[in-house]
Amino acid sequence: MTSRQTPFVIAVDGPSGSGKSSVSRAVATRVGAGYLDTGAMYRALTWWCREQRLDMDDPEAVAGAAVELPLEMGVDPQAPFVRVGGTDVDTQIRSSEISGLVSRVATVPAVRTELQRRQRELIATIAADRGSCVAEGRDITTVVAPEAPVRVLLTASEEARLRRRSLEVHGAADGAAIEATRDQVLRRDRDDSTVSQFTVAADGVAVVDTSELDFEESVEAVMAVVDAARVG
Ligand code: C5P
Repeated sequence: MTSRQTPFVIAVDGPSGSGKSSVSRAVATRVGAGYLDTGAMYRALTWWCREQRLDMDDPEAVAGAAVELPLEMGVDPQAPFVRVGGTDVDTQIRSSEISGLVSRVATVPAVRTELQRRQRELIATIAADRGSCVAEGRDITTVVAPEAPVRVLLTASEEARLRRRSLEVHGAADGAAIEATRDQVLRRDRDDSTVSQFTVAADGVAVVDTSELDFEESVEAVMAVVDAARVG
């Protein structure tokens, strides 16, 4: 049984284009929770390595950067931000260049250990401050917060994910735009799958397939899982 007074963690995983970030933010807003975008942390580290001209193929250098990274995460779901060394990097970390590089950084085991440690700390602080926290990523339901009272895997068909990401990045979902998006969705998920399991739900994780759902319906579907856990 979980009361609203108990720090309440909602863990959401899923592949690119599943609607993870926008749905997680909407759920956090509804619940009055803080919000942690763990993908933004891997992106921020990738951006920082690039800024410092580190060799991305040197795992020790990249792991060292993960420990040093002067990162600040804004956790208000209606105005999240990512700062590195006091500079806002929200736009830069979403560039195609960073999207193309991030898996290289995220598949270094020592990087994962350090960022997972920071994520656990942040989730505990956010949940203690606000009563609840929605954390989203690739390994939140399985590694970062496997004990969370709500764990959801958001999925969608490959076609739906490509269409959504293509609209987001290129403003179109015609053949050319979909082709241009393919690397950023399918190749990235394939690389990420070598270190995290986010295509099949672990035991006790609720699956929400958003292929046929619009945004509002996706939020409602996750809220149904949250509400079921709250009445416990
Ligand atoms: O969710 P987003 O697309 O912003 O994630 C960017 C990248 O960060 C992913 O492609 C993956 O390499 C990495 N990531 C991860 N574990 C998480 C969240 C993201 O490895 N929990």
